[in-house]
Amino acid sequence: MQVPPFSLSKQLSDLGNDLDAAALRVLRSGQYIGGQEVKDFEESFAANVGVPYVVGCNSGTDALILGLRALEIGVGDEVITCSFSFFATAEAISAVGAKPVFVEVDPSTFLIDLDQLEDAITKNTKAILPVHLFGYPVNMERILCIAEKYGLKVIEDCAQASGAKWSGRDVGSWGDVGCFSFFPTKNLGAAGDAGAVVTKDGDLAKKIRELAVHGMSRRYVHTDLGYNSRLDALQAAILNIKLPHLSNWVANRALVAERYIELLKNLPGLELPHIDFDKSIQHGWNQFVVKVIDFPEKEYLVAETIQPESHDSSGYLLRNSVRSWLQENLKKQGINTIIYYPIPIHLQPAYKNLGYQVGSLPVTESICSQVLSLPIFPEISLEQQKHVVKTLRELMTQ
Ligand SMILES: *Cc1c(COP(=O)(O)O)cnc(C)c1O
Repeated sequence: MQVPPFSLSKQLSDLGNDLDAAALRVLRSGQYIGGQEVKDFEESFAANVGVPYVVGCNSGTDALILGLRALEIGVGDEVITCSFSFFATAEAISAVGAKPVFVEVDPSTFLIDLDQLEDAITKNTKAILPVHLFGYPVNMERILCIAEKYGLKVIEDCAQASGAKWSGRDVGSWGDVGCFSFFPTKNLGAAGDAGAVVTKDGDLAKKIRELAVHGMSRRYVHTDLGYNSRLDALQAAILNIKLPHLSNWVANRALVAERYIELLKNLPGLELPHIDFDKSIQHGWNQFVVKVIDFPEKEYLVAETIQPESHDSSGYLLRNSVRSWLQENLKKQGINTIIYYPIPIHLQPAYKNLGYQVGSLPVTESICSQVLSLPIFPEISLEQQKHVVKTLRELMTQ
């Protein structure tokens, strides 16, 4: 049985006709940039998140850059975030000229460690950029409390967390800005790159909109150096079809996650993701991430089946041989898993200049050596999930 890490096929067969019609409508309208589809999407997404303003843009990365720029974060400023995330989180901070400062993550939630956050604040700190990683919302009440105490801005990286809620309120509606990605594998995916910035602040929304169109405040008057980062009409039309299904999809993801947790419990060598039974917290479950504990006694299995481990270009050793062995053997049974993320951002070659070394963030580094994302998408079948669990159980108790 084949189990892909992610699949759109059921979604495409359910919504195919509507998506075809929407795409064709835009194609034949001749209105490709801006227009009603974009307006409609911005309005519905605003209502969905529970904020007054949404500005569509090119990607989640651009959403972060636009948010940071609109908050006037730039050269000389420090932005606190975590190193266990997709590279774009930190890259956006660097793109505006500021410096990313990494705080450890909590080993069970994978989210920024709020007990260590204040220690990272310096006189140059301008903002906190929490990441709702894998769809799990950060405790935004505590983030806002710290931000208020030190006069910091808050930029939420909601790229993986469309539909997630903290304390009954959508992610993105807490900070100064919330930045979403509609990359096809995210909870709400377009048919290509797309993103959005959400905010409660009308002036900020205006600024973001200007920056997304070359810093243009009036026709051909450029008050700032901006970007070309608009949401395409075609993508907006696709998103307009999909948005009404988002909450159902997220609910299904949560069911899939609960099922995994039930089926995988008491399996030695696997640590399951943290789950909240607090109804005011909605995990977005963009990924279902387990930790594979490296058992020395399994080394003999590993030696037979996989290539010797190698150093990547940063000199960072990917240590977990059991994980590689497990991944390889799952694949032989048709189960495709992914490692999000094998190398923490602070050890990426591009960030050599920041001065971090192996050992700088031990919790983050150890997590990177253990995590494995199991297949999850709203329409994964019970049979597929059972196949994953059965295979894992056989391998881990071998
Ligand atoms: C996907 C992602 C981004 C970037 O979004 P794009 O739309 O791919 O530019 C940023 N942060 C996180 C955590 C992501 O997962």
